[in-house]
Amino acid sequence: MERYEKQMLYGEIGLEGQKKLLKKKAIIIGCGALGTVIANNLVRSGVGYIKFVDRDYIEISNLQRQILFDEEDIKENLPKVIAAERKLKKINSDIKIEGIIADVNSTNVESLCEGMDVILDATDNLQTRYLINDISIKLNIPWVYGGVIGSSGMVHTIIPQVTPCLRCMFPEIPPIGSTETCDTAGVLNSITSIVASMESMEAIKILLEKKTAVITGLQYMDIWSNDFETIDMTLDEDCKTCGKNSFEFLERSTDEAVYLCGKNSIQINPLQKSISADDIINRLKSLNINVKQNAYFIKFNIEDVQVTLFYDGRAILKNTDDIKKATSLYARYIGN
Ligand SMILES: [Zn+2]
Repeated sequence: MERYEKQMLYGEIGLEGQKKLLKKKAIIIGCGALGTVIANNLVRSGVGYIKFVDRDYIEISNLQRQILFDEEDIKENLPKVIAAERKLKKINSDIKIEGIIADVNSTNVESLCEGMDVILDATDNLQTRYLINDISIKLNIPWVYGGVIGSSGMVHTIIPQVTPCLRCMFPEIPPIGSTETCDTAGVLNSITSIVASMESMEAIKILLEKKTAVITGLQYMDIWSNDFETIDMTLDEDCKTCGKNSFEFLERSTDEAVYLCGKNSIQINPLQKSISADDIINRLKSLNINVKQNAYFIKFNIEDVQVTLFYDGRAILKNTDDIKKATSLYARYIGN
């Protein structure tokens, strides 16, 4: 317990609180700018079991803000969760740390979140957040929302039936393209670490069962214009999700091909979950395509498109926003 000395001195935690944290389970959805900071905080705070899920590999442009990664990880071509897991296990070997390489969608979100005490949003897209909102209300697990763009950020804590859920506040997802993204507005590392740290604190309050301490409104901040405000929000009894228990996003089928905002990439996630890696590699080599391979994926280029194919059949095709082109490249070079 010595490692937690300073936080146990804090009255609201103490020895009892620390023992409680060591028995709790948290899942972090996404392991990028927010996810790496949250995981770092929760691991050092001694939350007993921390699971994090991410679909991506590390690139040089991530290092500006994704604090668990370095240049060695890029040389090794590591998926984010693998590099994060390695580092976090060196920080705290007393707790259970599990990284999962996966795209979180309607087919797996329930099994990933079941049995968890809190869900932390560290995603970069609204579709996944509405999905997290559905599963939180369905399984009655609190979740913490966090979003960042440019120099501004927002945090909100959803305790089912106690604080307003995402759909109480924003009943429908804004149309794609109607909001700014980190792609168009950029993002500063100070705001990602502030928002992620606030999310971590909210999660710890929930895990300590100090629910009256959580943020009840929508906490907004802009650290360039120095604007900090809490926007009051109310629970809507007609809310489709927490009022009427309709889980539209969980029931939606998952698109096999989606555009990954912020990456200029298309992700193909086929229904069939296995590939014959050797056959694919042999076929590519016979076409004189240079193939790189590690324990997690196969990587190759077709003209200017860089293909990363995971062994469960999921692929990320970089340098294209054209779903048709990506689907056709997948079919031609990997298979139907
Ligand atoms: Zn609601």
